[in-house]
Amino acid sequence: MTELDRLLESYARIPEREFAHRAEALQQLLDRARAFRQSTGNTWRRGGVDGLIEQGAFEAELYHTLAEAERATEADRFQLLLTVQDRLENHLPAQYGSVRRVARTNVPEMLLQVANEMGNHLADGRFQSLVLHYIDMLADLRSDTNLPSITRNVLNEIVALRDDFHFEPFGSVGTLLTDRSKPNAPAKEFTLRPLMNGYGGTAGMLGHLAHELTHAAAHRAYRNTPAMLLFDRRATPERVSAIANARIATLRRLDHLLAAHQDAFTAVQHVMLRSRLDYGSRPLQVDRYAANLLAAKRIDQATRNQMRVWDQAAGENSGVLVEYDTVLHQILVYLHVWRIPQKNPFYQSAIDAAQDAFHARETALVGGDRPAAEAGVVSAAAAGDSSRGAQPRRGHTPRPGAGRRRWCRPCRRIGY
Ligand SMILES: [Zn+2]
Repeated sequence: MTELDRLLESYARIPEREFAHRAEALQQLLDRARAFRQSTGNTWRRGGVDGLIEQGAFEAELYHTLAEAERATEADRFQLLLTVQDRLENHLPAQYGSVRRVARTNVPEMLLQVANEMGNHLADGRFQSLVLHYIDMLADLRSDTNLPSITRNVLNEIVALRDDFHFEPFGSVGTLLTDRSKPNAPAKEFTLRPLMNGYGGTAGMLGHLAHELTHAAAHRAYRNTPAMLLFDRRATPERVSAIANARIATLRRLDHLLAAHQDAFTAVQHVMLRSRLDYGSRPLQVDRYAANLLAAKRIDQATRNQMRVWDQAAGENSGVLVEYDTVLHQILVYLHVWRIPQKNPFYQSAIDAAQDAFHARETALVGGDRPAAEAGVVSAAAAGDSSRGAQPRRGHTPRPGAGRRRWCRPCRRIGY
């Protein structure tokens, strides 16, 4: 045992960031511990050595991948680090102290560093390719025959918008309508600043992208101000109030079901789901967006006033007018990637809510003037139709020959 104790001591002295060095030392330790295990009978140290082998094997694999990530090119490094995050988030026993610290600090830092390095050379397209790689992974979920049909419909709807996005790793995380009044503005309709710190591993990344793409899809359906609000802008305050109340009730029901079926999720998964439900119902969101957009000259005073009316109509939690379809889709992607059984009541309820939200977007997009089969969200998106979602709204006259943004004066007034 003296040799094993000596190896353990020297391993503990290696700085946490020296991944290759740690991986190598752990391998030596494991070899020694396994040899000891083979050669010894049932001694009092045997249980401790078994525990050491288990923990050592787990950590050795992670440090090995981290060392590999350090040597890899940027895109490969990002992907390797995200797989480390998957292992750490999903399987990390609480007592694995050092590797846990690596998960909480080093890996997110390294991921952000990769994103920033790529962001410094945005024109070479590598950052775009990295984000598109994960959007394509999202698209590939559709090949799973076990995918709920609503999740498939949503993925059809949102991944069809992948080429309408400009991606950049700077500024506040989120999706915006690209401000075309700025010099050198990207030619894409939407600008996404994705979260690149690896939160939640691959499931987190895919859920996050589903959320952000949904902002664009919902905007194509509703065309409600540059804040991309999630309802028909012709709705009366009473209707807005009813929409908000129904959504808040749904989020509460989901919250209740999550608490009642907590055992179906790991601690990390539970935190991730809870945070999405909370995010969907934050107070005073519409008014806050309105103030920011007015300050940025993206909306006029009349629209700002209108948004205040909507905010007040929604009551306490106007967040559901900005974040609802988004968090539902994020949750559906999490649940699928985590392989949660669809019979789970929380999953069932999320499916029902997403179906209603899908139907509402579809109805808004169709606008009542065209047969559903002709203008349905899914069929247009699945066909890759470049005019998808660009149908003029009911009661508005398109200006012929005005290209992609064929919007009449009442729509243009609010900043398109
Ligand atoms: Zn959002």
